[in-house]
Amino acid sequence: MALKYVIQTYGCQMNTSDSERIVTVLEKMGYKPCEEFKDADLIILNTCSVKQKSEDRIYGFGKQFRELKEKNPKLAVGITGCVIRKASGLRHECEEEIFRTMETVDFCFRIKDLMMLPDMLRKLHPVKGAENVKDLLSYFHIDPTIGNIAQVFIPIGSGCNNFCAYCIVPYARGREESRSMAEILDEVKKAAKRGAKEINLVGQNVNTYKPSDEDPKSKESPFAQLLRKIDAVKGVDRLRFYTVHPKDMTDDIINLYGTLRTMTPHLHLPVQSGSNSVLKRMNRLYTVERFKELVAKMRKRLPHMSISTDIIVGFCGETEEEFMESYNLIQDLKIDLVYVSKYSEREGTLAARTLKDDVPAKVKKDRFERLTDGMMHVSHEYNQQFLGKTVQVLVERIRKGYADGKIPEFKMCRFPIKGMSAAKANKLIGQYVDVKVEKALEWALEGKAVDLPK
Ligand code: SF4
Repeated sequence: MALKYVIQTYGCQMNTSDSERIVTVLEKMGYKPCEEFKDADLIILNTCSVKQKSEDRIYGFGKQFRELKEKNPKLAVGITGCVIRKASGLRHECEEEIFRTMETVDFCFRIKDLMMLPDMLRKLHPVKGAENVKDLLSYFHIDPTIGNIAQVFIPIGSGCNNFCAYCIVPYARGREESRSMAEILDEVKKAAKRGAKEINLVGQNVNTYKPSDEDPKSKESPFAQLLRKIDAVKGVDRLRFYTVHPKDMTDDIINLYGTLRTMTPHLHLPVQSGSNSVLKRMNRLYTVERFKELVAKMRKRLPHMSISTDIIVGFCGETEEEFMESYNLIQDLKIDLVYVSKYSEREGTLAARTLKDDVPAKVKKDRFERLTDGMMHVSHEYNQQFLGKTVQVLVERIRKGYADGKIPEFKMCRFPIKGMSAAKANKLIGQYVDVKVEKALEWALEGKAVDLPK
């Protein structure tokens, strides 16, 4: 009987994309997917350590894995993602911290070492399909197994050369590396052939994309060249990308909004703080004025564009005044979606080595709630423009009698599908549905389908 696996993925879109590559390797080796830990012979946690909560959740699995291993001695547990910082290997082969903190973990790997996974698994399990994966060249050459055709994430590179004081990514993923345009285009075309309509390009800093096959004669940046090439791919209608760094965003990218047919009226531009002194401590290498200038340029091209951002509250030494600068920035610029996180120290980062995590937990919590509350008003106001209008929803999921997905402006919109059979409802995933908006809530829209696809 085939061995069964479960991959649990945490964190950003980059991790989702990485998990799709892990699935390909496992299925080539003959593993079959299952839904729950209790049925699995192999559990892989693809971790995120940006937030303390995600990291705590990983460590919280220790007891459960011990009990599962008592029932199923074949069970192997592996960890990848940002929690793994130094090395890849089996428990007795490698020094990684995770083996000290979790005695039930059998192996770990940095995602860039994904090619080592088959060898590790061969030592743990009697897998028969090992021959199918002996020629893996690199992480990027592994064809992803797309989990949800409505949301296809394609990495354009990996790693990061910026050392933002709070961030572990440059240590976990290493220095920045770009994929060739040819390779990315090939993956985009394959996804479009399978029915993908929206492509999400992912990388730690998409603006510094530097492939080997850029056009040296072009006046545009390599990333702008890539966006133009993808725009020409038949079947792709929506193009999004993450993450943009305000210090590296160029005018040629801004000028593509409203020019390329696939560029959606939404940009995620992480500011992290509205205070120049905090940005300096964070080593972000731009100013709040630079961020404001970028937002103004974007809004000049597309006045109703949705702009989302990230803010960390309670970073080392953050005063009430500095926090209020973040709060006011969101209100003044009408940023309609903010992913707020409370700062927590990550061992090995610049901040952990040189700054004190001195903002009390209850102050962080209070700032988190005030900022979220303030942003909710902006989001609610922004969403009113859609009331009574018909929007195009790309359906991502079906749950509790509703289908929902995003409109071009990145807002979730749901509509009822009561009475529809499960088979028919599932066929809506990855399809466009026109929806007349009847409710504009703080976080989402709701309405009725105008015309369901046959
Ligand atoms: S740009 Fe900064 S926050 Fe983003 S991955 Fe690189 S170091 Fe981390």
